[in-house]
Amino acid sequence: MRILITGAAGFLGSHLCDAYVEQGHEVIAMDNFITGNPKNLAHLAGKPGFSFIRQDVSNFIFVPEKVDAVLHFASPASPNPKSPYGYTNLPIQTMKAGAMGTHNALGVAKANKAKFLLASTSEIYGDPLEHPQKESYYGHVDTIGIRAVYDEAKRFAESLTMAYHRFHDVDTRIVRIFNTYGPGMNLDDGRVVPNFIQQALRGEPLTIYGDGLQTRSFCYVSDLIRGICALLDSNEHLPVNIGNPVENTMIELAEAINRLTNNPAGLVFKKDARVGDDPQQRRPDITRAKTILNWEPLVSLEEGLLKTIPYFERAMK
Ligand code: UDP
Repeated sequence: MRILITGAAGFLGSHLCDAYVEQGHEVIAMDNFITGNPKNLAHLAGKPGFSFIRQDVSNFIFVPEKVDAVLHFASPASPNPKSPYGYTNLPIQTMKAGAMGTHNALGVAKANKAKFLLASTSEIYGDPLEHPQKESYYGHVDTIGIRAVYDEAKRFAESLTMAYHRFHDVDTRIVRIFNTYGPGMNLDDGRVVPNFIQQALRGEPLTIYGDGLQTRSFCYVSDLIRGICALLDSNEHLPVNIGNPVENTMIELAEAINRLTNNPAGLVFKKDARVGDDPQQRRPDITRAKTILNWEPLVSLEEGLLKTIPYFERAMK
């Protein structure tokens, strides 16, 4: 296959490029480097089958060759208002990537009769009232909250993807990605795993927002990429949750990272950093992925953190 990957220099986009180049496919990587990092693709430059186009997906996308699949991963994705990459600091670009970017990427898929895969998110469930979250849950989202620029853009992107599937018969897939971590995350991404690991490596206390009892479920990147590849290979057009169903509080995560890095500095609690818009719990119900894709995560949190810590050690130098 020749595969167009938008957001290719991002954390997940770059791992997808690696996976598909390794499987012997041709990859056309696309990114405008607003939040993507060229370092994530540097090792692929010059490899047979790999090419790169610098482009903002919210403008018309011209691809010089026929493509067999389009994977739309371009979007800011960090909710942290303190990060320069946070979508609350890039609100218009985030809505454009989800709306116009998805429209353009779907247009490429339609013109090429190619498969299309949308990177959607657990954020479409908002601050969920149903737990764990099944794909059938409609979500609990504030249309004007600070996270809305991301959540609503992705909800629109899902609707547009289904419209292209139903109306134009495009062969679409939708993956709802839950919290994922691993090598390749930006140092100033601002999400919890990069923050905690860097604080721990500097011997500082880990900053817990709120009471630390809020939960997330963390999936190691190799498990996630395997799930996405399986979804692309499947015939499933409805959304599929991909994530790790093991749920941890932020205190448990912080304590694990302090233990694995031998950081004696402990934890520090900071109030109200996310101004009441922080989902209190999040865990995927992965029954659909298990049944349809025969997929489930294999890497435990401890194993995944042990693979991620050395990346941050190198990147911080
Ligand atoms: N969080 C934290 N300390 C940090 C960064 C994040 O306690 O330095 C918390 C945050 O309030 C949230 C959870 O960790 O409850 C996960 O946040 P993240 O930014 O990783 O992404 P989210 O899952 O909210 O999209």
